[in-house]
Amino acid sequence: MKFGYHEDCLDHTTGYRHPESPDRLRAIRRSLARKHGVEYVAADAAPESAVRAVHDDEYVDSFKKFCDDGGGEWDADTVAVEATWDAALAAAGQAMWAAERAIDGDAGRTTPFALGRPPGHHAVADDAMGFCFVNNAAVAARHVIEEGQADRAAIFDWDVHHGNGIQDIFYEDGDVFYASVHEDGIYPGSGDVEETGAGDGEGTTLNVPFPAGSGDPEYCAAVDDIVGPALVDFDPDVVLVSAGFDAHRHDPISRMRVSTEGYGALADRFRDIADDADAGLAFVLEGGYGLDTLAESVSMVHEVFDGREPVEPDDDPADRALGVLESVRRQGFGEK
Ligand code: ZN
Repeated sequence: MKFGYHEDCLDHTTGYRHPESPDRLRAIRRSLARKHGVEYVAADAAPESAVRAVHDDEYVDSFKKFCDDGGGEWDADTVAVEATWDAALAAAGQAMWAAERAIDGDAGRTTPFALGRPPGHHAVADDAMGFCFVNNAAVAARHVIEEGQADRAAIFDWDVHHGNGIQDIFYEDGDVFYASVHEDGIYPGSGDVEETGAGDGEGTTLNVPFPAGSGDPEYCAAVDDIVGPALVDFDPDVVLVSAGFDAHRHDPISRMRVSTEGYGALADRFRDIADDADAGLAFVLEGGYGLDTLAESVSMVHEVFDGREPVEPDDDPADRALGVLESVRRQGFGEK
């Protein structure tokens, strides 16, 4: 794969014991150093205008000033230093690069993956939250649409947390489809099955809130039965995967049970889905807080695009998860 990576993203430091640390990127880079076919690109930072196309001016101004003044605690979880502003623009810029490369045809062994931080999917139009300041995937999706590179974009979010920010930003926007599989009942509390979009965006938000303990069979079933068909139906020009790895069974902050191999099986599915939709495919890093499992999982995604045959889950999905998929189907999604 081609990885978008910029050193500025290391300078966003978060303090002792904060799970969202620069060591996340260092661990990924160490793991990828042992792999074949890895290419790095340091894409340009996002221009402020691209950030302001998603976030309110008042919020962007106050975030910028917050960093200029040396940063601190924006909220209890979400901390910044002076360098966070540049890191956030660098992370958004890597996501924009990934979306553009995917639309321009980079695929297979050159599939783009933006390795930026801070992550983005919790950042709403007018606020930072959940370690996120600039919504990287949202900036990328809006950018390619506003520039006329794409008519429609789809974002699939497999981070263990619901990407409330992406959902909110595009909730009434019929040009961007947002789908999320996440753990029910944890931060940030949104992402119910009934949240399906509004206005022009009615039917372009899809949520699969799985019970704790769900893993490879359940995630693969959600993609095979519901998310994949819905994305192909939407006919996007680009599919962005908001790729957090905190649903991993060994991640310290969730109770989900996705395996390293499971991320390979999911990545393989999105390659097929993008092919079926005749869309580009790009990955954008979100969360993932076990350094080893994060690094192994990103490497697994890379290996799948480098020719590795992913291992399919052995078990059948649990009944409780199938019940959730049934309720999503009742919202009009999935194979009819
Ligand atoms: Zn997360």
